[in-house]
Amino acid sequence: MTGTDSDDNATDRRLRLLVGLVVVAALVVALGVIAHAYVWPTPAPDVAMLFVTLAAVLVANHMRVYVRIKSSQDGTTWGEVPVLIALVLLPGPWVVLCAAVGMTLRMIATRKSPQKAIFAVAKEVLTASTAVAVFWALDVRPSLTDPPAALIPVIVAMTAMAIVDHAAYLPVMATASHSTVRRLATQDLDMKLAAYLVRLLATLLVVAVLAFGGSLLLLLIFPLVVFCMHLWQSRRIRTREERESWQRLAEATDELNAVDLTHVLHSAASRAALLFSAVETEIDLVTDSAERTVRGTSQRVTFDGSRAGATELPPAEITAELVTHDGRLHMGVLRLRFGGPVKLTEFEQYKLRTFTSALCTAIRNATAYAELQRLNEQNAYDAAHDPLTGLANRRELYERAGEHFQSHTDEGVVALLLIDLNHFKEVNDTLGHAAGDAVLREVARRLADAAAPGDLVARLGGDEFAVLLVDLPTPALATHRAKSMLSTLERSVAVEGMQITVEAAGGIALAAGSGGVNELMRRADIAMYQAKRAGQQTATYAHSQDTADVSRLALGSELHRAVAEREFVVDFQPIVDLGSGEVVSAEALARWHHPEHGSLTPMEFLQTIERSGRLQDFADAVLDQALAASDQWREAGFDLPVAVNVSPRSLLDPRFPETVLSRLGRHEVPADRLIFELAETLTLSQLDVVGRALTELSEAGVRLALDDFGTGVTPLSVLSHIPVHQLKIDREFIGAVQTSSEASAVIRSTVDLARSLHLSVIADGVESEPQRHALWSLGCVAGQGHLFARPMSAARLLATMQRGTAGRPGALAPSLHDGGAVVRMSRRRSGGSGRSALPHLPA
Ligand code: C2E
Ligand code: CA
Repeated sequence: MTGTDSDDNATDRRLRLLVGLVVVAALVVALGVIAHAYVWPTPAPDVAMLFVTLAAVLVANHMRVYVRIKSSQDGTTWGEVPVLIALVLLPGPWVVLCAAVGMTLRMIATRKSPQKAIFAVAKEVLTASTAVAVFWALDVRPSLTDPPAALIPVIVAMTAMAIVDHAAYLPVMATASHSTVRRLATQDLDMKLAAYLVRLLATLLVVAVLAFGGSLLLLLIFPLVVFCMHLWQSRRIRTREERESWQRLAEATDELNAVDLTHVLHSAASRAALLFSAVETEIDLVTDSAERTVRGTSQRVTFDGSRAGATELPPAEITAELVTHDGRLHMGVLRLRFGGPVKLTEFEQYKLRTFTSALCTAIRNATAYAELQRLNEQNAYDAAHDPLTGLANRRELYERAGEHFQSHTDEGVVALLLIDLNHFKEVNDTLGHAAGDAVLREVARRLADAAAPGDLVARLGGDEFAVLLVDLPTPALATHRAKSMLSTLERSVAVEGMQITVEAAGGIALAAGSGGVNELMRRADIAMYQAKRAGQQTATYAHSQDTADVSRLALGSELHRAVAEREFVVDFQPIVDLGSGEVVSAEALARWHHPEHGSLTPMEFLQTIERSGRLQDFADAVLDQALAASDQWREAGFDLPVAVNVSPRSLLDPRFPETVLSRLGRHEVPADRLIFELAETLTLSQLDVVGRALTELSEAGVRLALDDFGTGVTPLSVLSHIPVHQLKIDREFIGAVQTSSEASAVIRSTVDLARSLHLSVIADGVESEPQRHALWSLGCVAGQGHLFARPMSAARLLATMQRGTAGRPGALAPSLHDGGAVVRMSRRRSGGSGRSALPHLPA
């Protein structure tokens, strides 16, 4: 049973008790009147007069100025007026009888509930008897001949009636409306007093008319006067009621203007109950984001939860749909429950519409605000966490470590443990990324479990983790804690039915006096590499070991600046037609112009970039410069494709094709002028994702070269997964082309494979003319290498091409002219080896 149910039962019991008391009092009084009449018999009354009185009681009680309290209606009536006038003309007991019968008829006519009817009749008997008692006490006899004598008793009787009337109905009304007697008594007191005076004056006027010989006919005008006064009074009360109602509505809508949905719903439930004098309000909220039911009385919220958890209530008397004013959004329903049947006036309906519309707006605002709040929190969380493992990310680690440096508390030593997994790449390469991710998640979980409260475990990227150890009582404890954390990784990890052992190296650095987080990170990194080199589980930073790794370490933290300051530049190495010596394309090779370390080659920084999470920025910078160069050459008359190296990691980014195509568009370079060189180190699990990206690019016209061909372990089936256009034979074979028959066999078979698949072949690292000749005779048509040119800036390459060789712009080497062609033809015709023809070629 809900709180409301038990409240309702208690109210009902009290109501029955109060009504019972009034009925008992009325019976006692009625018996008194009958006994009095029996002892002092009265003359029989005029029958016509009886009927007039009866009718007057009926009409006067019907002229009621309504004030709605809950479902019952309270109001002041003209009921005592006919009773008092009749008392001047008729014997008391007959008047009481008329009043009782009149009221009973009225109750039957208006189909009131038995309880209400009994109460009303009892109250009528009580008040009428009170008036009779006053008349008897003041010894006033009914007489048409001497009404003036009744003037004072009329005043006294009317006052007594008002008092008895209020004494009987105020407690009942207060109970029914959950209000207090005091509040009801003082509510509209001025109006009530005014109404009382008006009724008193009207009564006295009638009595005076009778006294001064006015005919009974004159009294016929009286109902008209009374009716006009009644109308005037009703209107005044209604106007005031409406004004107050507007005020309450304005207050309610003001209160709804909140950003917290719970506050909105709770105040709406209570306010609606108050505004519409409902016993209970129910709001059923049904939106995309929430389904919720809130119930309340004017006093408090009685239920807040899901519809399923709410007890069924009797159907509501009034139901209003919660629809935004434009009618587009339906948010649920508002139900108002009353003690009995209720019909809303037009004004109340309008009020209800206004209220629901305000409620809808408030719900919408609060929902929007909550969504905004949620997004903010989500963004804040995402910005501070690694999506794969849920650990803090690099940024969060820096921030938290920074806070520790700033707080300067004496709470203990702060240390940083940097962890790098050994040979993690192999897990990725052999088992695929999903397995690699599973290992990383498990490592993250174990580290987080092993961390002490207050420590911060973070994933910095790739297979690199860090733990900020705080509140260490002594520096020595850092090593102990680090060892115990790393030992949790010794247990093998189960991935796809296999047991994988994870090895890790940890570098420990204690917070330094100066240099802040960056310095701490740098030191932990040095220690970590030291542990790796020494094959130990952990190493602690020692100043003496610093410097060895300075250049490599500095790189990690400087990438941000390098991207911002455009320190990444691209050199271009021409790719040449081995026969004619003419440039056919150029490969873009990245360089880092480091302010301290000078020009760094990709070998020195690529790994750091790939691990740092800044790969995208770097790749974008390279692609931009490569496309700009291609555009520049084309304008100068050299329409060359540009080859750009791409990391498999870039291709795993689903936005990659889109980024590339938009950059092509921006530089106005046709797609077939771009070649991507992909190192042959893709794992089969990557092929799927990479294949999709490359197919999309290939369909747009971009070409693909397989770099370092011949060295990798990738099976040839790669060629069926991704759209390849070129094979670049690795330097390793080119260097050995003259000395190793194995190398030349690889080159020949690659050339044959390429021919049957309609691919072109490029030899990488051509360093000498004999190599060039050998390659050309093996059927390889293009090559790049120091023989022709070293990588250089786009502008220098352009100048070099413009200068040309032997008066041939665009050529970087003398042509192998006809001799070459003869060799190749003869090789094909005679099947003889190309090398045998070499001596005929110009040196
Ligand atoms: P790669 O794709 O095999 O590039 C050719 C490398 O061989 C270049 O080294 C080039 O300078 C060098 N080389 C050219 N001709 C000769 C020669 O005759 N003899 C010898 N011994 N070497 C020669 P670099 O520029 O140091 O590039 C190294 C590798 O870095 C490249 O190998 C490529 O895989 C990678 N790389 C370069 N630029 C980028 C880039 O923008 N993005 C990515 N992801 N990787 C790049
Ligand atoms: Ca390359």
